[in-house]
Amino acid sequence: MEPIGIGSTGAESLSSYISRLADAHCITVGDIMTHLIAPKLDKKYINNMVFNGGNGFYKSTSAINGHGNIAEDFIDVIAFLTMRKDIGETTLVNCRGLVPFRGLLKSRRHWCPSCFQADVESKQIVYERLSWTLQPYLKCFIHDRTLESVCPFCKSCMYTLERKSVPGYCTKCFYWLGNFKESQNTTIYSGETNESMRTFFSEFINLSFESGCVSRSISFYLEKNFEGSLTKAAEFFGYSKSTLWGWKAGANLVPLKALIDITSRLQLSLTGFINMEKSKITLKGHCSDRVVPLGRVKKDHKKIQEFLGLIIAEKKSYSLSEIANLMDCDRKLLTQTYPNECQQIKTNYLSSLEAKKQSKNKIMKKSIDKAVYTLMKRGTYPSSGKVEEIVGKGKLHERKYQDYWNAKKSSMAIKKSI
Ligand SMILES: [Zn+2]
Ligand SMILES: [Zn+2]
Repeated sequence: MEPIGIGSTGAESLSSYISRLADAHCITVGDIMTHLIAPKLDKKYINNMVFNGGNGFYKSTSAINGHGNIAEDFIDVIAFLTMRKDIGETTLVNCRGLVPFRGLLKSRRHWCPSCFQADVESKQIVYERLSWTLQPYLKCFIHDRTLESVCPFCKSCMYTLERKSVPGYCTKCFYWLGNFKESQNTTIYSGETNESMRTFFSEFINLSFESGCVSRSISFYLEKNFEGSLTKAAEFFGYSKSTLWGWKAGANLVPLKALIDITSRLQLSLTGFINMEKSKITLKGHCSDRVVPLGRVKKDHKKIQEFLGLIIAEKKSYSLSEIANLMDCDRKLLTQTYPNECQQIKTNYLSSLEAKKQSKNKIMKKSIDKAVYTLMKRGTYPSSGKVEEIVGKGKLHERKYQDYWNAKKSSMAIKKSI
């Protein structure tokens, strides 16, 4: 089975490929993990998951698509199992040494409903794109719509890969996640055009980079365009002097979002930046040196405010830390500058968490109903063990579900005796 669109802007992610492998063999991702991947990897992190159950490992499955050890482990084992040499290209391993892990990947599963729908309607294979996993990529650069992370039916969020992942479907309620319904005016914050984000992505996954190339380029532009002045460059790019110094000295890698910002501010492609091509930007005179950064700060604040307004208007369930992350600013800055908005966002977030909890409760209670009923019909006593075989191991440990199960049993028994 071939990974889809390798090397293209529509490249498939490794997590997507694993869930398609499972689907094609009529087994679950959980089965693949437990019986095929775990024994081969024999790593502590994955054995814990297999032996203890729970979602421990699945919480960090975003890393499978990244450039760290987990990605490398998974590439090795999937390459071994499928005898393919191109598995690495469904991840970001080539970008190790270019950008740090921090700020690279979203921790939750994101998708473009239009891409899913287009896959189905054009009778293509439904799969998940590597570009959706990148933290700064908030929109689908094909359909210009905000990437979704909440199931429209059961309101669940999902990890990148879960035991029952199937591309295009919610892992909790199996609702189809594709559609062409554009949600109204979701102009989410983004300083870049779709075209530039697409180009950047394509370069990002295809180029091979020498380590230290970014710090060399930063030193180069600092000399060339800012007369070697960290102060001027810091004002122009909108990062602190010490941050910039750390990048220039190679003490820290430039996070992906900042790399996109910097190349875009220099009006260069990523390749152009790495190859130290001449930037068209000019800093004219002493006055405009100051005009540029001030203008930028103001503009950014306008954008921050617009973004916060949008999140409130659409009741998006984002936490303040997530927003700070998305906007690449400090959480403290948000709460201090926009106390009212932040309060509102916090309230919305908490109530959405509560709503999610409620709907999870409802679904679990329904599953218990069904399990008890099915067992009774089969003439089997609906013991906790039998019910848990259906609804999931350990589920009845939770007091509220245990009570519900007890109540259900007695109500069924009464009905039976009548
Ligand atoms: Zn799309
Ligand atoms: Zn769902």
